[in-house]
Amino acid sequence: MSQFWSPIVQTLTPYVPGEQPKLPGLIKLNTNENPYPPSPAVTAAMHTVTADSLRLYPDPDAAELKKTLAAYHDVQPDEIFVGNGSDEVLAFAFMALLKHSEPLLFADITYSFYPVYCKLFGIDYVEVPLNSAMEIDTADYEDRACGGIIFPNPNAPTGIPLPLAAIEALLIKQPNAVVVVDEAYVDFGGETAIPFINKYPNLLVIRTFSKSRSLAGLRVGFAMGHVKLIEALERVKNSFNSYPMDRLALAGAVASYGDEAYFQKTNAAIIDSREQMTAALEKLGFTVLPSAANFIFARHESYAAEQLAAGLRERAIIVRHFKHPRINQYLRISIGNPDECKMLIQTLTLLTSNH
Ligand code: PMP
Repeated sequence: MSQFWSPIVQTLTPYVPGEQPKLPGLIKLNTNENPYPPSPAVTAAMHTVTADSLRLYPDPDAAELKKTLAAYHDVQPDEIFVGNGSDEVLAFAFMALLKHSEPLLFADITYSFYPVYCKLFGIDYVEVPLNSAMEIDTADYEDRACGGIIFPNPNAPTGIPLPLAAIEALLIKQPNAVVVVDEAYVDFGGETAIPFINKYPNLLVIRTFSKSRSLAGLRVGFAMGHVKLIEALERVKNSFNSYPMDRLALAGAVASYGDEAYFQKTNAAIIDSREQMTAALEKLGFTVLPSAANFIFARHESYAAEQLAAGLRERAIIVRHFKHPRINQYLRISIGNPDECKMLIQTLTLLTSNH
């Protein structure tokens, strides 16, 4: 019955999310979730949400969450927009801020949701190639006519971070384009652009609770930027659904920011495991890109990535392999807990030992 589909839906290549396996017991290193549970303060706060309160709509302004985020990130509550995961926040940004007569610019190797949103919302875009070191070179974006620029920092799936000086130069060179910095992975070693918000009205920073806050299942994301950018996001959001988040998510998200020690501890553990995993993979002959994220992107000269991914899968470990021709020699491996990392290295040792 696809004749009922609108023309955009008929030609859309939808985003394909990483596998969420139904089988128990698999080592899941394919979608960059946090291997540690959220702070116990999060579940405690969610337990205080009463059944009676669930009768009532949540706060349409998410005022308490915005106040908490504002205090932590040293911005004003009206410089914050919250939503159900950063994918939703990104959707609002694409609709409200990135559709113009000039094309949107993003890297050829980046978060694969960006081209999907462009097609869905009818936005022209140009994919700018990464340089030969697989880095985003902001100089390639500085002198182009464009309707906006978006990139993750660190980039995904490479994990490579961008220095703040490069981002600032871009903000200065492109004062009439909104520059969206998707900081989904910034807490694992990147530098945040949040301090630039008060200086550059064309900057929007997007964050998620899914990675460093261990809350992918709660669906919380937010954006920070000049009040005029936030106002545009609110306009679009209110035209869909005036309640940005449910009561449980609001309670859990606020509590997460109340446990800084736990946040620091789990992030440090992941960074430590990443460094150990990188060294172990290099010993096995892999080339590992310099990651500042909770995943690494690695290739082996002698073994095809697709076969390695299949071999791991047969041994109950799932990693991500992309079929894109420029990166089909790479595996993207999320950082697990120490036991999971050990199993991964043992299994790859086995799979790369049959010369
Ligand atoms: N941005 C990037 C770069 C990502 O990798 C992801 C996770 N797939 C997201 C945004 C979306 O995260 P979420 O919707 O869980 O907040």
